[in-house]
Parts: sequence; C-alpha cells; structure tokens
Amino acid sequence: MDCKDSIKMIPQYLNDELNINELEEFLDHVRQCDECKEELTIQFLVQEGLQRLEDGDTFNLTMELNDMLYLSGKKLQSRRNLLKFSYILQVLVIFECALVVFLSMFL
Ligand SMILES: [Zn+2]
Repeated sequence: MDCKDSIKMIPQYLNDELNINELEEFLDHVRQCDECKEELTIQFLVQEGLQRLEDGDTFNLTMELNDMLYLSGKKLQSRRNLLKFSYILQVLVIFECALVVFLSMFL
C-alpha cells in the first residue's frame, strides 16, 4: 500500500468501515509511515475535535487516537487468532473424517 491509498482510507478507518484485510494493510502502513500517521492524527483531531467541541467535552485526543490504533491492532490480532483457530478446527475435522474412513475399512 502506498501513501495515496492509505490517506484515502483514513476517513473509512475513522468511521470503522474498513474490512479486516484493508485494516491490516492500513495499520501496517500507518505504523511505519510518519506522513500518514500525521495525516491520520490531523483528520482524527478535526473529526473528533469538532464533535467534542459541540458536546463541550474535555479531551485528550492524541491519547485517544493512540488508544484507537492500539485497539485496532488488538482487534486484528484476535481476528487472526480466530482464523487460525478455525483453520485448526477444519484440519481436525478433515483428520477425523479420514480416521472414520480408515477405521470403517478395517472394522
Ligand atoms: Zn504513508
């Protein structure tokens, strides 16, 4: 993913509209690209900041953005674990089917 793609995805990221693959690519890029991280910070501040000003909340948005990135990473990790787990289950099911076939041939 290049910076152009990444920057295009920022609004979708902020609205939680990226699918899991897009999210993974986006996070990978933003974590290692200062320019896009800065752009993300700005757009986050604008979007959330305006909302908060209307609501009259006090806020620490930079910290919140870091939290949001951290949680996105966590979400991604748990999706990955879930996928891994379902893959293991599938392998087990296939193995059991093979075992049943094998046993039925000999019993
Ligand atoms: Zn970039």
